[in-house]
Amino acid sequence: MKLIPLPAFQDNYLWVLHDGHRALVVDPGDAQPVVDFLSRTGLQLEAILVTHHHPDHIGGLVPLRDATGAAVFGPAREAIPGPLQRLSQGDSATVLGLRFQVIDVPGHTAGHIAYFTDDDDGGPLLFCGDTLFSGGCGRLFEGTPAQMLASLDALAALPDATRVCCAHEYTLSNLRFARAVEPGNEALAAYQRHCEDLRARGEPTLPALLGEEKRINPFLRSREPAVVRSAQAFNGTTGDDVAVFAAIRQWKNEFR
Ligand code: ZN
Ligand code: FE
Repeated sequence: MKLIPLPAFQDNYLWVLHDGHRALVVDPGDAQPVVDFLSRTGLQLEAILVTHHHPDHIGGLVPLRDATGAAVFGPAREAIPGPLQRLSQGDSATVLGLRFQVIDVPGHTAGHIAYFTDDDDGGPLLFCGDTLFSGGCGRLFEGTPAQMLASLDALAALPDATRVCCAHEYTLSNLRFARAVEPGNEALAAYQRHCEDLRARGEPTLPALLGEEKRINPFLRSREPAVVRSAQAFNGTTGDDVAVFAAIRQWKNEFR
């Protein structure tokens, strides 16, 4: 399968996966980039996968479904315009012959889901919407730090080779913050240089690799001693891993 991030709006990616004939798209916040891509390539849109209800993820859903007849899959507990197959933890969806497992990842929104498959010949693949970003994580609009930490723990348990398809190109600003949290992390400094080179060439920094994220993403590292110390320096927390995670998330919200 071929995996392609279609840019949309300021910094969204609409992820397309295709086999040369049929395609799926994830979180079409805008229909036009997808319609243009389909007509340019002659691909047939088989399915639309939705991770959560925010407008920049579903804005193009109805026109795209009307134009293509694609099947729609989305979170069971969010307001998504139907008809759609409503999915939650433990469900799966078979699209393009690949079986996608559904993982509940509440935090950014209450009913947010992610899609994981290990069936593609390119390696394991995760569509995680606005839950995990490269070097960061989504803002907590509808969930608690405990929920988001549990959601990220569930994603971190996937194989290290997993290609992480995040919905936004937030990597460079995330990494500036990550450096403030872990100034001594050499892998992080090297990854930042790599991503700056990619962006200077106009290339996406995504998909990220999960194994790399575990080495550089402070939101996957809230139990690391260096991250705990930085959280303590930020707000004096003496709490558990959830308190450390909450401190890092709060710090990121305020970081300029
Ligand atoms: Zn969102
Ligand atoms: Fe978004």
